[in-house]
Amino acid sequence: MDLLVVGAGLFGLTIAERAAESGLRVTVIDRRDHLGGNAWSSVDAATGIEVHRYGSHIFHTSNERVWDYVRRFTAFTGYRHRVYSTHGGTVYPLPINLGTLNQFFGTAMGPEAARALVAGQAAEGLAGGEPTNLEDKAISLIGRPLYEAFIRDYTAKQWQTDPRELPASVIARLPVRYTYENRYFADTYEGLPAHGYGPWFEAMAAHPRIDVRLGTDFFDDAQPLSRGAVRGRVPVVYTGPVDRYFDEHAGPLGWRTLDLETETVPVRDFQGTSVMNYADLDVPYTRVHEFRHYHPEREDRHAQDRTVIMRERSRFALPGDEPYYPVATPQDRERLRTYRALAEHEPDVHFGGRLGSYLYLDMHMAIASALSLWTSGAVLERSAPALAA
Ligand code: FAD
Repeated sequence: MDLLVVGAGLFGLTIAERAAESGLRVTVIDRRDHLGGNAWSSVDAATGIEVHRYGSHIFHTSNERVWDYVRRFTAFTGYRHRVYSTHGGTVYPLPINLGTLNQFFGTAMGPEAARALVAGQAAEGLAGGEPTNLEDKAISLIGRPLYEAFIRDYTAKQWQTDPRELPASVIARLPVRYTYENRYFADTYEGLPAHGYGPWFEAMAAHPRIDVRLGTDFFDDAQPLSRGAVRGRVPVVYTGPVDRYFDEHAGPLGWRTLDLETETVPVRDFQGTSVMNYADLDVPYTRVHEFRHYHPEREDRHAQDRTVIMRERSRFALPGDEPYYPVATPQDRERLRTYRALAEHEPDVHFGGRLGSYLYLDMHMAIASALSLWTSGAVLERSAPALAA
Protein backbone atom coordinates (compact mmCIF):
# COMPACT_ATOMS: atom_id res chain seq x y z
CA MET A 1 0.00 0.00 0.00
CA ASP A 2 1.33 3.44 -1.00
CA LEU A 3 -1.50 5.57 0.36
CA LEU A 4 -4.18 5.13 3.00
CA VAL A 5 -7.41 7.10 2.54
CA VAL A 6 -9.56 7.37 5.66
CA GLY A 7 -13.18 7.92 4.64
CA ALA A 8 -14.97 6.70 1.49
CA GLY A 9 -16.97 9.91 0.98
CA LEU A 10 -16.58 11.89 -2.23
CA PHE A 11 -13.39 13.60 -1.05
CA GLY A 12 -11.72 10.30 -0.17
CA LEU A 13 -12.98 8.48 -3.28
CA THR A 14 -11.74 11.26 -5.57
CA ILE A 15 -8.25 11.18 -4.05
CA ALA A 16 -8.20 7.38 -4.16
CA GLU A 17 -9.27 7.26 -7.82
CA ARG A 18 -6.75 9.89 -8.91
CA ALA A 19 -3.94 8.24 -6.94
CA ALA A 20 -4.73 4.76 -8.32
CA GLU A 21 -4.89 6.16 -11.84
CA SER A 22 -1.41 7.60 -11.26
CA GLY A 23 -0.04 4.20 -10.32
CA LEU A 24 -0.31 4.17 -6.50
CA ARG A 25 -1.73 1.24 -4.61
CA VAL A 26 -4.43 2.77 -2.42
CA THR A 27 -6.37 1.39 0.50
CA VAL A 28 -9.61 3.15 1.47
CA ILE A 29 -11.16 2.50 4.87
CA ASP A 30 -14.51 3.66 6.19
CA ARG A 31 -16.10 2.93 9.51
CA ARG A 32 -19.52 2.69 7.86
CA ASP A 33 -20.62 -0.34 5.83
CA HIS A 34 -21.06 1.56 2.56
CA LEU A 35 -19.24 3.89 0.15
CA GLY A 36 -20.09 7.54 -0.49
CA GLY A 37 -20.32 9.01 3.02
CA ASN A 38 -23.43 11.09 3.52
CA ALA A 39 -24.30 11.06 -0.16
CA TRP A 40 -25.00 7.33 -0.12
CA SER A 41 -28.39 5.96 -1.14
CA SER A 42 -29.94 2.54 -1.59
CA VAL A 43 -33.04 1.17 -3.25
CA ASP A 44 -35.84 0.24 -0.88
CA ALA A 45 -36.64 -3.35 -1.83
CA ALA A 46 -40.35 -3.13 -1.02
CA THR A 47 -41.10 -0.10 -3.21
CA GLY A 48 -38.20 0.07 -5.71
CA ILE A 49 -37.61 3.68 -4.62
CA GLU A 50 -34.02 4.95 -4.21
CA VAL A 51 -33.77 6.42 -0.71
CA HIS A 52 -31.06 8.96 0.15
CA ARG A 53 -30.21 7.59 3.58
CA TYR A 54 -28.70 10.82 4.97
CA GLY A 55 -31.25 13.23 3.52
CA SER A 56 -31.85 14.50 -0.02
CA HIS A 57 -28.75 14.84 -2.19
CA ILE A 58 -28.93 16.63 -5.54
CA PHE A 59 -25.78 17.01 -7.58
CA HIS A 60 -25.17 20.51 -8.94
CA THR A 61 -22.11 22.42 -10.09
CA SER A 62 -20.91 25.19 -12.36
CA ASN A 63 -17.36 23.86 -12.24
CA GLU A 64 -16.47 22.42 -15.68
CA ARG A 65 -13.60 20.39 -14.31
CA VAL A 66 -15.81 18.71 -11.71
CA TRP A 67 -18.61 18.13 -14.24
CA ASP A 68 -16.19 16.49 -16.68
CA TYR A 69 -14.70 14.40 -13.89
CA VAL A 70 -17.95 13.03 -12.40
CA ARG A 71 -19.31 12.04 -15.81
CA ARG A 72 -16.49 9.53 -16.21
CA PHE A 73 -18.30 7.43 -13.60
CA THR A 74 -22.00 8.11 -14.12
CA ALA A 75 -24.52 9.77 -16.40
CA PHE A 76 -26.91 12.29 -14.82
CA THR A 77 -30.66 12.71 -15.24
CA GLY A 78 -32.22 16.06 -16.10
CA TYR A 79 -33.77 16.49 -12.63
CA ARG A 80 -34.24 20.11 -11.54
CA HIS A 81 -34.73 20.72 -7.84
CA ARG A 82 -37.64 22.82 -6.58
CA VAL A 83 -38.61 23.33 -2.96
CA TYR A 84 -41.91 24.46 -1.41
CA SER A 85 -42.75 25.67 2.07
CA THR A 86 -45.94 25.27 4.08
CA HIS A 87 -46.78 28.32 6.20
CA GLY A 88 -50.11 29.09 7.86
CA GLY A 89 -51.86 26.33 5.95
CA THR A 90 -50.71 27.58 2.52
CA VAL A 91 -47.93 26.26 0.27
CA TYR A 92 -45.45 28.76 -1.19
CA PRO A 93 -42.57 28.31 -3.65
CA LEU A 94 -39.00 28.82 -2.40
CA PRO A 95 -36.53 30.50 -2.55
CA ILE A 96 -38.67 33.61 -2.01
CA ASN A 97 -39.50 34.81 -5.53
CA LEU A 98 -42.09 36.92 -7.28
CA GLY A 99 -44.58 34.06 -7.06
CA THR A 100 -44.03 33.76 -3.30
CA LEU A 101 -44.37 37.53 -2.81
CA ASN A 102 -47.57 37.91 -4.81
CA GLN A 103 -49.15 34.91 -3.11
CA PHE A 104 -48.09 36.05 0.36
CA PHE A 105 -49.15 39.69 0.01
CA GLY A 106 -52.23 38.88 -2.13
CA THR A 107 -50.95 41.12 -4.92
CA ALA A 108 -50.16 41.02 -8.64
CA MET A 109 -46.95 43.07 -8.46
CA GLY A 110 -44.34 43.24 -11.18
CA PRO A 111 -40.63 43.02 -10.32
CA GLU A 112 -40.12 46.75 -9.62
CA ALA A 113 -43.16 47.13 -7.35
CA ALA A 114 -42.14 44.00 -5.45
CA ARG A 115 -38.57 45.22 -5.08
CA ALA A 116 -39.83 48.55 -3.71
CA LEU A 117 -42.18 46.82 -1.27
CA VAL A 118 -39.47 44.52 0.17
CA ALA A 119 -36.93 47.38 0.29
CA GLY A 120 -39.45 49.52 2.18
CA GLN A 121 -40.18 46.76 4.71
CA ALA A 122 -36.45 46.12 5.16
CA ALA A 123 -35.78 49.85 5.73
CA GLU A 124 -38.51 49.95 8.39
CA GLY A 125 -36.85 46.99 10.08
CA LEU A 126 -33.47 48.72 10.12
CA ALA A 127 -34.68 51.42 12.51
CA GLY A 128 -32.58 50.05 15.40
CA GLY A 129 -29.16 50.48 13.68
CA GLU A 130 -26.56 47.74 13.14
CA PRO A 131 -28.18 44.28 13.62
CA THR A 132 -26.69 42.29 16.48
CA ASN A 133 -28.66 39.07 16.19
CA LEU A 134 -30.10 36.86 13.44
CA GLU A 135 -33.62 38.27 13.78
CA ASP A 136 -32.54 41.90 13.36
CA LYS A 137 -30.26 40.95 10.49
CA ALA A 138 -32.98 39.04 8.64
CA ILE A 139 -35.51 41.86 9.14
CA SER A 140 -32.96 44.36 7.83
CA LEU A 141 -32.65 42.25 4.67
CA ILE A 142 -36.27 41.30 3.87
CA GLY A 143 -38.52 43.11 6.39
CA ARG A 144 -40.57 41.73 9.27
CA PRO A 145 -43.58 40.10 7.50
CA LEU A 146 -41.48 37.81 5.27
CA TYR A 147 -39.05 37.11 8.11
CA GLU A 148 -41.82 36.06 10.48
CA ALA A 149 -43.47 33.85 7.86
CA PHE A 150 -40.52 32.04 6.29
CA ILE A 151 -37.43 32.47 8.46
CA ARG A 152 -38.21 32.91 12.16
CA ASP A 153 -39.76 29.61 13.16
CA TYR A 154 -37.88 27.54 10.59
CA THR A 155 -34.57 28.89 11.92
CA ALA A 156 -35.69 28.32 15.52
CA LYS A 157 -36.43 24.69 14.64
CA GLN A 158 -33.09 24.28 12.82
CA TRP A 159 -31.07 25.64 15.72
CA GLN A 160 -33.35 24.85 18.67
CA THR A 161 -32.62 28.44 19.60
CA ASP A 162 -34.62 31.69 19.48
CA PRO A 163 -33.26 33.62 16.44
CA ARG A 164 -32.82 36.65 18.75
CA GLU A 165 -30.16 34.63 20.53
CA LEU A 166 -28.33 33.54 17.38
CA PRO A 167 -25.51 35.69 16.02
CA ALA A 168 -26.25 37.89 12.99
CA SER A 169 -23.36 36.14 11.20
CA VAL A 170 -25.43 32.94 10.75
CA ILE A 171 -26.99 34.60 7.68
CA ALA A 172 -24.94 36.64 5.24
CA ARG A 173 -27.74 37.24 2.75
CA LEU A 174 -31.34 36.22 2.15
CA PRO A 175 -31.79 36.17 -1.60
CA VAL A 176 -35.15 37.31 -2.95
CA ARG A 177 -35.74 36.69 -6.65
CA TYR A 178 -37.80 39.29 -8.51
CA THR A 179 -38.77 36.78 -11.20
CA TYR A 180 -40.90 33.65 -11.08
CA GLU A 181 -37.77 31.47 -11.34
CA ASN A 182 -38.02 28.88 -8.57
CA ARG A 183 -35.27 26.47 -9.51
CA TYR A 184 -33.53 25.93 -6.20
CA PHE A 185 -29.97 25.80 -7.54
CA ALA A 186 -28.58 28.38 -9.92
CA ASP A 187 -25.71 26.17 -11.15
CA THR A 188 -25.06 25.39 -14.82
CA TYR A 189 -25.25 21.63 -14.33
CA GLU A 190 -27.67 19.69 -12.17
CA GLY A 191 -29.05 16.18 -11.96
CA LEU A 192 -29.12 12.86 -10.18
CA PRO A 193 -26.87 9.91 -11.00
CA ALA A 194 -28.92 8.02 -13.58
CA HIS A 195 -28.34 4.58 -12.02
CA GLY A 196 -28.20 5.76 -8.40
CA TYR A 197 -25.51 7.05 -6.06
CA GLY A 198 -24.28 3.55 -5.15
CA PRO A 199 -23.22 2.58 -8.73
CA TRP A 200 -21.53 6.00 -9.12
CA PHE A 201 -19.38 5.44 -6.02
CA GLU A 202 -18.69 1.82 -6.95
CA ALA A 203 -17.42 2.98 -10.35
CA MET A 204 -15.03 5.41 -8.64
CA ALA A 205 -13.70 2.67 -6.36
CA ALA A 206 -13.52 0.01 -9.10
CA HIS A 207 -9.91 0.70 -10.07
CA PRO A 208 -7.85 -2.50 -9.63
CA ARG A 209 -5.26 -0.62 -7.55
CA ILE A 210 -7.94 0.42 -4.98
CA ASP A 211 -8.63 -1.84 -2.02
CA VAL A 212 -11.73 -0.84 -0.01
CA ARG A 213 -12.26 -2.00 3.55
CA LEU A 214 -15.61 -1.02 5.01
CA GLY A 215 -16.58 -1.32 8.67
CA THR A 216 -13.02 -0.29 9.56
CA ASP A 217 -12.45 2.53 12.05
CA PHE A 218 -9.13 4.40 11.87
CA PHE A 219 -9.15 4.74 15.66
CA ASP A 220 -9.73 1.06 16.36
CA ASP A 221 -6.32 -0.11 17.48
CA ALA A 222 -7.39 -3.72 16.98
CA GLN A 223 -7.35 -3.30 13.20
CA PRO A 224 -4.03 -3.20 11.30
CA LEU A 225 -4.65 0.16 9.54
CA SER A 226 -5.28 2.19 12.70
CA ARG A 227 -3.75 5.59 13.36
CA GLY A 228 -1.34 4.02 15.82
CA ALA A 229 -0.21 1.39 13.30
CA VAL A 230 0.30 3.64 10.25
CA ARG A 231 1.39 6.98 11.75
CA GLY A 232 4.63 8.11 10.11
CA ARG A 233 4.83 4.88 8.06
CA VAL A 234 2.27 5.36 5.29
CA PRO A 235 1.03 8.64 3.75
CA VAL A 236 -2.57 9.23 4.84
CA VAL A 237 -5.42 11.32 3.47
CA TYR A 238 -7.74 11.73 6.44
CA THR A 239 -11.37 12.85 5.91
CA GLY A 240 -12.76 12.14 9.40
CA PRO A 241 -13.35 14.83 12.05
CA VAL A 242 -10.19 16.88 12.60
CA ASP A 243 -10.80 17.22 16.37
CA ARG A 244 -11.14 13.46 16.72
CA TYR A 245 -7.76 12.93 15.02
CA PHE A 246 -6.11 14.97 17.79
CA ASP A 247 -8.16 13.30 20.56
CA GLU A 248 -10.09 16.56 21.05
CA HIS A 249 -6.93 17.99 22.57
CA ALA A 250 -8.26 21.59 22.23
CA GLY A 251 -11.89 20.60 22.94
CA PRO A 252 -14.65 19.24 20.67
CA LEU A 253 -15.87 21.20 17.63
CA GLY A 254 -19.62 21.92 17.61
CA TRP A 255 -21.92 20.38 14.98
CA ARG A 256 -25.60 20.27 14.22
CA THR A 257 -27.02 16.84 13.51
CA LEU A 258 -30.25 15.63 11.91
CA ASP A 259 -32.79 13.11 13.12
CA LEU A 260 -34.05 11.42 9.98
CA GLU A 261 -37.15 9.25 10.26
CA THR A 262 -38.03 7.14 7.22
CA GLU A 263 -41.57 5.85 6.73
CA THR A 264 -43.36 3.93 3.97
CA VAL A 265 -46.87 5.36 3.67
CA PRO A 266 -49.76 3.65 1.89
CA VAL A 267 -50.38 6.24 -0.85
CA ARG A 268 -48.79 6.50 -4.29
CA ASP A 269 -47.89 10.17 -3.92
CA PHE A 270 -47.64 11.78 -0.48
CA GLN A 271 -46.87 15.43 -1.26
CA GLY A 272 -46.47 15.81 -5.03
CA THR A 273 -42.87 17.02 -4.80
CA SER A 274 -39.44 15.98 -3.49
CA VAL A 275 -39.04 18.40 -0.57
CA MET A 276 -41.65 20.26 1.45
CA ASN A 277 -40.41 22.61 4.17
CA TYR A 278 -42.56 23.34 7.21
CA ALA A 279 -42.01 26.95 8.21
CA ASP A 280 -44.15 27.00 11.38
CA LEU A 281 -43.53 25.79 14.93
CA ASP A 282 -46.73 23.71 15.13
CA VAL A 283 -45.03 21.08 12.91
CA PRO A 284 -42.01 19.76 14.83
CA TYR A 285 -39.95 18.71 11.78
CA THR A 286 -38.26 21.10 9.37
CA ARG A 287 -38.97 19.25 6.13
CA VAL A 288 -40.29 16.11 4.51
CA HIS A 289 -38.48 14.38 1.65
CA GLU A 290 -40.35 12.11 -0.79
CA PHE A 291 -37.83 10.18 -2.82
CA ARG A 292 -39.93 8.87 -5.74
CA HIS A 293 -40.02 12.40 -7.15
CA TYR A 294 -36.26 12.39 -7.74
CA HIS A 295 -36.73 9.79 -10.48
CA PRO A 296 -39.95 10.29 -12.47
CA GLU A 297 -38.26 8.33 -15.27
CA ARG A 298 -38.37 5.21 -13.06
CA GLU A 299 -42.13 5.30 -12.35
CA ASP A 300 -42.63 1.94 -14.04
CA ARG A 301 -40.31 0.42 -11.42
CA HIS A 302 -41.80 2.21 -8.39
CA ALA A 303 -44.58 0.72 -6.26
CA GLN A 304 -47.90 2.34 -7.16
CA ASP A 305 -49.59 1.84 -3.79
CA ARG A 306 -46.84 3.06 -1.45
CA THR A 307 -44.23 5.76 -1.21
CA VAL A 308 -41.18 6.43 0.99
CA ILE A 309 -40.94 9.68 2.93
CA MET A 310 -38.36 10.99 5.40
CA ARG A 311 -39.10 13.54 8.12
CA GLU A 312 -36.14 15.67 9.13
CA ARG A 313 -35.51 17.33 12.48
CA SER A 314 -32.41 19.32 13.31
CA ARG A 315 -30.56 19.76 16.63
CA PHE A 316 -27.15 20.26 18.20
CA ALA A 317 -25.05 17.10 17.97
CA LEU A 318 -24.23 15.22 21.17
CA PRO A 319 -21.27 12.84 21.50
CA GLY A 320 -21.99 9.83 19.28
CA ASP A 321 -24.33 11.72 16.89
CA GLU A 322 -23.47 12.07 13.20
CA PRO A 323 -21.95 15.53 12.61
CA TYR A 324 -23.73 17.27 9.68
CA TYR A 325 -23.33 21.05 9.74
CA PRO A 326 -20.51 22.96 11.53
CA VAL A 327 -21.86 25.34 14.19
CA ALA A 328 -18.70 27.49 14.02
CA THR A 329 -19.07 29.62 17.15
CA PRO A 330 -16.09 31.88 17.98
CA GLN A 331 -14.94 29.15 20.38
CA ASP A 332 -15.15 26.54 17.61
CA ARG A 333 -13.11 28.78 15.31
CA GLU A 334 -10.46 29.23 17.99
CA ARG A 335 -10.25 25.47 18.49
CA LEU A 336 -10.08 24.95 14.73
CA ARG A 337 -7.04 27.25 14.56
CA THR A 338 -5.30 25.03 17.10
CA TYR A 339 -6.16 21.88 15.12
CA ARG A 340 -4.97 23.41 11.86
CA ALA A 341 -1.65 24.30 13.52
CA LEU A 342 -1.32 20.74 14.80
CA ALA A 343 -2.22 19.36 11.36
CA GLU A 344 0.67 21.31 9.80
CA HIS A 345 3.10 19.24 11.85
CA GLU A 346 1.45 15.86 11.50
CA PRO A 347 3.81 13.66 9.50
CA ASP A 348 2.51 12.56 6.09
CA VAL A 349 -1.17 13.32 6.78
CA HIS A 350 -3.42 15.46 4.56
CA PHE A 351 -6.66 16.60 6.15
CA GLY A 352 -9.59 17.14 3.81
CA GLY A 353 -13.32 16.85 3.20
CA ARG A 354 -16.06 18.44 5.23
CA LEU A 355 -15.11 16.75 8.52
CA GLY A 356 -11.36 17.12 8.10
CA SER A 357 -11.64 20.81 7.27
CA TYR A 358 -14.71 21.61 9.46
CA LEU A 359 -16.52 23.26 6.56
CA TYR A 360 -19.89 22.57 4.99
CA LEU A 361 -19.08 21.25 1.52
CA ASP A 362 -21.54 20.33 -1.19
CA MET A 363 -20.60 17.24 -3.19
CA HIS A 364 -19.10 19.24 -6.04
CA MET A 365 -17.05 21.30 -3.54
CA ALA A 366 -15.67 18.15 -1.90
CA ILE A 367 -14.69 16.81 -5.33
CA ALA A 368 -13.17 20.13 -6.45
CA SER A 369 -11.18 20.38 -3.23
CA ALA A 370 -9.89 16.80 -3.62
CA LEU A 371 -8.93 17.40 -7.27
CA SER A 372 -7.03 20.54 -6.21
CA LEU A 373 -5.18 18.67 -3.47
CA TRP A 374 -4.32 15.96 -5.95
CA THR A 375 -3.07 18.29 -8.68
CA SER A 376 -1.06 20.31 -6.15
CA GLY A 377 1.24 17.28 -6.15
CA ALA A 378 1.48 17.27 -2.35
CA VAL A 379 0.04 13.76 -1.91
CA LEU A 380 2.09 12.29 -4.73
CA GLU A 381 5.23 13.95 -3.41
CA ARG A 382 4.93 12.13 -0.12
CA SER A 383 3.94 8.86 -1.75
CA ALA A 384 6.50 9.13 -4.55
CA PRO A 385 9.23 7.08 -2.83
CA ALA A 386 6.78 4.20 -2.64
CA LEU A 387 5.82 4.69 -6.27
CA ALA A 388 9.44 4.72 -7.40
CA ALA A 389 10.22 1.55 -5.39
P1 FAD B 1 -18.41 12.56 3.98
O1 FAD B 1 -19.38 12.23 2.91
O2 FAD B 1 -18.95 12.84 5.32
O3 FAD B 1 -17.38 11.33 4.10
C1 FAD B 1 -16.49 11.18 5.19
C2 FAD B 1 -16.38 9.71 5.49
O4 FAD B 1 -15.37 9.50 6.49
C3 FAD B 1 -17.67 9.10 6.04
O5 FAD B 1 -18.11 8.06 5.21
C4 FAD B 1 -17.26 8.60 7.42
O6 FAD B 1 -17.91 7.40 7.79
C5 FAD B 1 -15.77 8.42 7.27
N1 FAD B 1 -15.07 8.43 8.55
C6 FAD B 1 -15.15 9.37 9.52
N2 FAD B 1 -14.40 9.02 10.58
C7 FAD B 1 -13.81 7.85 10.25
C8 FAD B 1 -12.94 6.97 10.94
N3 FAD B 1 -12.51 7.22 12.19
N4 FAD B 1 -12.54 5.82 10.33
C9 FAD B 1 -12.97 5.53 9.08
N5 FAD B 1 -13.82 6.32 8.39
C10 FAD B 1 -14.23 7.47 8.97
N6 FAD B 1 -24.24 18.10 -1.26
C11 FAD B 1 -24.71 18.36 -2.51
O7 FAD B 1 -23.91 18.59 -3.41
N7 FAD B 1 -26.05 18.38 -2.77
C12 FAD B 1 -26.99 18.15 -1.80
O8 FAD B 1 -28.19 18.17 -2.09
C13 FAD B 1 -26.52 17.89 -0.48
N8 FAD B 1 -27.40 17.67 0.51
C14 FAD B 1 -26.93 17.44 1.76
C15 FAD B 1 -27.87 17.20 2.76
C16 FAD B 1 -27.42 16.97 4.06
C17 FAD B 1 -28.43 16.72 5.13
C18 FAD B 1 -26.04 17.02 4.36
C19 FAD B 1 -25.55 16.85 5.76
C20 FAD B 1 -25.12 17.22 3.35
C21 FAD B 1 -25.56 17.43 2.04
N9 FAD B 1 -24.64 17.62 1.02
C22 FAD B 1 -25.11 17.87 -0.24
C23 FAD B 1 -23.16 17.54 1.26
C24 FAD B 1 -22.56 16.12 1.09
O9 FAD B 1 -23.23 15.17 1.84
C25 FAD B 1 -21.12 15.96 1.65
O10 FAD B 1 -20.89 16.99 2.57
C26 FAD B 1 -20.06 15.90 0.65
O11 FAD B 1 -20.28 14.82 -0.22
C27 FAD B 1 -18.70 15.82 1.36
O12 FAD B 1 -18.03 14.59 1.23
P2 FAD B 1 -16.83 14.21 2.20
O13 FAD B 1 -16.10 13.10 1.57
O14 FAD B 1 -16.06 15.43 2.53
O15 FAD B 1 -17.50 13.77 3.58
